[in-house]
Amino acid sequence: MTSVSVEVAIIGAGTAGCFIASLLDEAGVSCRLLEKSRGLGGRCSRRRIDENYSVDLGAPEFAMNADLDPVLLAKQQAWIRAGFVSAWQRPSARFDATTDTQMQTTLCATPSMNTWHKQIAGHIDTLTGSRVQRLQKSAGRWQLLDADGQVLTEADKVIVTSPAEQAYDLLKDFDGFKECKTVADASLAQYVCAVGFSQPLNLSADVYRGGHPLLHTAIRESSKPARGTARGLAEVWMLHSTFAAAQHDSPDALIEAFCQHFAIEQTAQVLTSHYWRLSRHDTSVRQGQPFIWNDALQLGCCADWLDSGDMQGALNSSLQLFRAIHPAQ
Ligand SMILES: Cc1cc2nc3c(=O)[nH]c(=O)nc-3n(C[C@H](O)[C@H](O)[C@H](O)COP(=O)(O)OP(=O)(O)OC[C@H]3O[C@@H](n4cnc5c(N)ncnc54)[C@H](O)[C@@H]3O)c2cc1C
Repeated sequence: MTSVSVEVAIIGAGTAGCFIASLLDEAGVSCRLLEKSRGLGGRCSRRRIDENYSVDLGAPEFAMNADLDPVLLAKQQAWIRAGFVSAWQRPSARFDATTDTQMQTTLCATPSMNTWHKQIAGHIDTLTGSRVQRLQKSAGRWQLLDADGQVLTEADKVIVTSPAEQAYDLLKDFDGFKECKTVADASLAQYVCAVGFSQPLNLSADVYRGGHPLLHTAIRESSKPARGTARGLAEVWMLHSTFAAAQHDSPDALIEAFCQHFAIEQTAQVLTSHYWRLSRHDTSVRQGQPFIWNDALQLGCCADWLDSGDMQGALNSSLQLFRAIHPAQ
């Protein structure tokens, strides 16, 4: 029997789901994460390349803003002290070189981005490989059902943390969630591709972003904290397509564009590629508080797309919803 009864059921074990689960757990609230894929991380997943090496397939890093909510700032400092998040100081440039190369500092979980999710929510009851297909109320409590109609979990409150399109599928029949559709219609896709080189590339920056029609970002994956490279390779780069290029181009076109742009003559080894159908959201289509909560239904939503559309947004959305439903904190 997988069905259990908790105070709060959280759908999705990405950044928003894991963070709000950890806040609720710290506050003594019983909760359960339900995740359709095999593990924690969501759009911070990693992919194994060989037995000793994997790459970050989604978010490569997250911002380190001094003007953050003080609780988030304190949490970030605690994660750094605990050793599973590191500052990554790296030279950054635009592809079109319209600005000078700059030193920037961001944060990376180590040794991979989804280590953060395992560290903060690994101890919380989680049902993986379980897509929640439908929500229904029975005797005043929520039931979360899978595609076969089996009840996976019962709960007093439900928090949905899926990307907007998937959140809309679950929430469209309930009052207060129509704006999921507006953001779902502004979902953006991206290709990502990991490429390896046997000789070091003579490039001055570790991150290139902006100013190329096909390449959104190129990251020297092997320069991130505690990463290393795959066997026999000097460097590994992650190439992220622009949203426009994801509509018609392929990972091969990304590699060709990267090698052409930097006049790279050595052969690029393709290590892996992935198509993110729901990579990012154009969050400019909505304004207002960074979460949705229907108090009468005890049903809500927090995720990146309700805030700034990135990791920081996912964290802030979760923190603000937590404060709304658990005002004692
Ligand atoms: C290629 C790429 C590059 C990026 N670069 C950056 C960057 O440089 N900096 C930055 O800050 N951010 C970046 N991001 C964005 C960042 O990854 C996201 O903002 C953040 O991870 C979103 O977290 P989330 O919890 O809101 O959503 P998600 O991580 O998408 O988590 C939602 C979870 O819900 C699960 N789920 C959905 N529906 C159901 C269901 N019905 N039942 C059960 N489970 C369900 C999903 O499987 C998923 O695990 C990038 C993303 C991508 C893809």
